Amino acid sequence: MKIDELKSLATGINMGSSLVGPDDVTLSMDGKGDLKDTFPVPDCDNCQKKCCPPRVVISLFDLVRFADDGLDEHVAGTFKGFVELYLAEDGKDVDLSHPHMFPTDPDAKGCVFLDEERKCSIYENRPLVCHSYPVAVRIDTDRNRLGLWLGGCQKYNISSDRAAFQELLDNAIQDYNEKLTSNALLMYSRSQLRDIGLGKYMEDEWQILIDYNKKNIDMEKQIEDLQQVTERLKAPQDYTAIMQRLQNDNDWLKERVENLEKEMTQQRERAHSIISEFTTQLSEQRKLMESLRQSDEQGRKSRWKR
Ligand code: SF4
Ligand code: SF4
Repeated sequence: MKIDELKSLATGINMGSSLVGPDDVTLSMDGKGDLKDTFPVPDCDNCQKKCCPPRVVISLFDLVRFADDGLDEHVAGTFKGFVELYLAEDGKDVDLSHPHMFPTDPDAKGCVFLDEERKCSIYENRPLVCHSYPVAVRIDTDRNRLGLWLGGCQKYNISSDRAAFQELLDNAIQDYNEKLTSNALLMYSRSQLRDIGLGKYMEDEWQILIDYNKKNIDMEKQIEDLQQVTERLKAPQDYTAIMQRLQNDNDWLKERVENLEKEMTQQRERAHSIISEFTTQLSEQRKLMESLRQSDEQGRKSRWKR
């Protein structure tokens, strides 16, 4: 079961406070007013609207559940777009329209899983968004999490049975959390996702978005560094400190050069004195040799006279 492997991967991701629980969402109907005592509950069995659209937004978890149930061949889409929600600073203008379940027939008017009688052919295995429809958790511009009754349903009963509505809301919360976790997994665990055989659902666009995000972070860091340097250069005491340091370095170098020159002069003088001493000794040696040669010659002459 790949879903178990996916859940196990997800437990290794620190989602911080991004995931929501029942207490984190505020109930509202199209953002207008709270739902306190009565709750709209769709009456799909008696509805002719057949609202299942040709493209349904699913998460990586839905896709993996499909794969486990042998239904993924009906899903032609790959993952893109959710990263926008993950990267969004304020939750504004987030496109939640990806990934889709693409119908194999491009002219299809409804979901790929609708049968000839336009009933859901995978009702037990339908994606989580269909379990919660039309309730969904969304983020408003103030980063509040809203459990919205989206108003897309044309045939609902107003009920005081909170449990029925709560079931829709619980599924909506789980769907939101699974979509957010999908983003994190696709952002940070791509190689592990490939390892468990999900590479075929991923595409390079994710990598481009991830690289783009990383590049932005790097650029922000570089800008921050440059700002720090500019700030430091603006400070006059810094110039003084730099000049003082250069002056100190210069003084140290000057002293070092003077010492070296002194040392070289001493060495040169020593060399001259050694050479001069050696020259004197050589000259004395020569004189001695000459006087020995002369006395030897005189000795030989006096022996001949005798
Ligand atoms: S419009 Fe509402 S009641 Fe009708 S099928 Fe869709 S969700 Fe169900
Ligand atoms: S999966 Fe089933 S319930 Fe969901 S949109 Fe398709 S047909 Fe409708």
